Amino acid sequence: MHTNDPSSGIPPRLLHRPTVGGLVVPYTTLAMPDGRWRFGAIDYARQTTAFTEKLCQTCGTGLGNRIVFAMRDTDLAELTSHEPGMHPECAAYSASACPMLAGRMSHHQHTPTAAHLAALDLAFHGDPTTESRLGQPAQRWSLAWASSYRPYMHPRTKQLAALILPEQLLRVRPITATSGEAAS
Ligand SMILES: [Zn+2]
Repeated sequence: MHTNDPSSGIPPRLLHRPTVGGLVVPYTTLAMPDGRWRFGAIDYARQTTAFTEKLCQTCGTGLGNRIVFAMRDTDLAELTSHEPGMHPECAAYSASACPMLAGRMSHHQHTPTAAHLAALDLAFHGDPTTESRLGQPAQRWSLAWASSYRPYMHPRTKQLAALILPEQLLRVRPITATSGEAAS
């Protein structure tokens, strides 16, 4: 029985990406020296390229005028995403793959929060503000749709981030860690 085969849900845009256990390895995922992928860890060179060249963090190809960002409430208040954007279908795939990733990751990660974040496939380790919050109550996350953004150096993190102008923000929808509701 392969009714839950995760590879069956991979959108065409992601078919060129490598997979591990049937799950797509995002473009910004760090490759370890031995060639294995480290889910949840970020390749900063690729993340920088994604921000500045407006590439999707999941498939690594150019974004259009419908860009999805995963943002906390505090990010929304600043209209800032600390992760590169995604194509809508790539964001939907990442969200729908979440429960399966969560099950797999729990066997390999020692930090529940890290496993949880990695399972969301939202590249949380790329957010330098995350470390200090590990172990604290999780903030609410939303998916935000934007028509474009401007890469800038965030004044607090001193890291590249995406600034969404108010007129570029199209839609915001809360997500929870346990649902795959983003796949619509
Ligand atoms: Zn994409």
